[in-house]
Amino acid sequence: MGMRRTVPVALDVDSDDAALLEDTVDTFLWCAQYVVDHAFQGEYVTTSKTMLDDETYDDVREETDGFNGGLVQAARNKAAEACKSVVARWKNGKKASKPTFTSPHVVYDHRTATFHDDYVSLATTDGRIEADSILPDEDSETPHSEYLFSDEYETTGAELHYHDGDWVLHVHCKTEVESDTSEQPTPENGTVLGVDLGVNNLAVTSTGTFWTGEEFDHWRREYEKRRGSLQQCGTRWAHQNIQSVGRKEEGRFKLMLHRISNELLAEARENECSVIAFEDLTDIRERTGASWGHKWAFDRLYEYVEYKIEEYGIFVEQVDPENTSRRCSHCGFTHPDNREDEDFECLKCGYENHADYNAAKNIGLRYLRRNQTGGDGGALLGVRLNSGTLNVNGGYSPASSEARTGVHAESHRF
Ligand SMILES: [Zn+2]
Repeated sequence: MGMRRTVPVALDVDSDDAALLEDTVDTFLWCAQYVVDHAFQGEYVTTSKTMLDDETYDDVREETDGFNGGLVQAARNKAAEACKSVVARWKNGKKASKPTFTSPHVVYDHRTATFHDDYVSLATTDGRIEADSILPDEDSETPHSEYLFSDEYETTGAELHYHDGDWVLHVHCKTEVESDTSEQPTPENGTVLGVDLGVNNLAVTSTGTFWTGEEFDHWRREYEKRRGSLQQCGTRWAHQNIQSVGRKEEGRFKLMLHRISNELLAEARENECSVIAFEDLTDIRERTGASWGHKWAFDRLYEYVEYKIEEYGIFVEQVDPENTSRRCSHCGFTHPDNREDEDFECLKCGYENHADYNAAKNIGLRYLRRNQTGGDGGALLGVRLNSGTLNVNGGYSPASSEARTGVHAESHRF
């Protein structure tokens, strides 16, 4: 099981600490911009984190009067990801200009923040501050009681955001992963996260994380029922209510898809992916038997990911979906009988796995093959799996090839 959630936690910050946090935001964004500006000097854009670190760390520390080293590195990571994204777009024949950072935020991890049950400690430009978390009643069923206070989830980091005078910490939580997933991705790998969309599972990634379609189906049936019973009334009042049911349905699904898009982004970021590859959505109904409602959901999901992604220096692409569900991601053998419903078993090499997971790997591989170019620092190295990287020739690095099949179980509640 691998599940992840992002929980927003409002912070109670007094005016002195608010001033410090504002200064920290400004400094963090300044550092990220400094590194980007540096990366864009010269003939090639530097995307290597190690090189950028070597070339800017000391200068940045000096210019900022010794800004917290962990935050300097987080800003540098942010800058390097943004640069990688630009280079990848160029390679793909797309336009992209030098990144700028404007949205007020700071990226924290366990070196720069400590998460307690009812307060957090955050590094700033002048030592640490402690801020109380404004939390709902612990017994009520909120994301906070479900994830933040749950022993099953661990915090992996957070982003501090500033909106309209409010400080909100977006805390990333995930369930602990099994031992076979302990392999840490190396930061220099520019890798692709393949995503397969479908009906039974709305989304499955090449890292083996599943988002089931149960919640979506449950609510579609529910709203269908409500509309059906109103239709039988046939009154003007009923007609207006059918429209209102439609608006509620759309609102609920949009919320759900926003959440999934955020979780997909978190999956990409934690696995250091520079690209998220989806299949081309144009004919997805014909291919997968998806309803118009599903098609609408897939389009929204893609749109939300595309909209949010810029800030993270990742970019999103659609690839030709032909045979991604019939092709063996292990040996490349393509045959319709390789797949039966949710089971994929290659008739040639015997590779077995969940069919959607196999498809997600193929989508990542297809993007990779299409974008194989010279071997300079910005080249994409592979498709990110939970246990390593699948390269364009089908080889794994490191050797482990088993996928974690975590399931994103959805709760039937908002
Ligand atoms: Zn095979």
